[in-house]
Amino acid sequence: MAKKLANHIHKYKKIELGTDKEYLVYKCMHPACSHYIPIALAEGKLCECNRCGEPMIITKVTLNGSNGGPMAKPHCNDCIERKKVKDEDVAAIAAFLSGNETKTN
Ligand SMILES: [Zn+2]
Ligand SMILES: [Zn+2]
Repeated sequence: MAKKLANHIHKYKKIELGTDKEYLVYKCMHPACSHYIPIALAEGKLCECNRCGEPMIITKVTLNGSNGGPMAKPHCNDCIERKKVKDEDVAAIAAFLSGNETKTN
């Protein structure tokens, strides 16, 4: 029984433990699982992507991808790329619009 409950890919969320000193861990969000791991040791571990649900490996990108800090809810490269494309689209549209403005002036 217990074996079955543990048989899943952990789905991590960033949690701050401790009061004096900042101590960040990734805690599994599965209801039956109390697993967590210090973020300093999380690199190279398998977890479930918080966006698409696919298995992913925690990398330096995961740990530094959120303004130089660990992602609150780790997501895979595919989901990072998807977001990046979106941001670039927004930037392209903004550049296009500002370009248009200068032309019409
Ligand atoms: Zn778990
Ligand atoms: Zn994903």
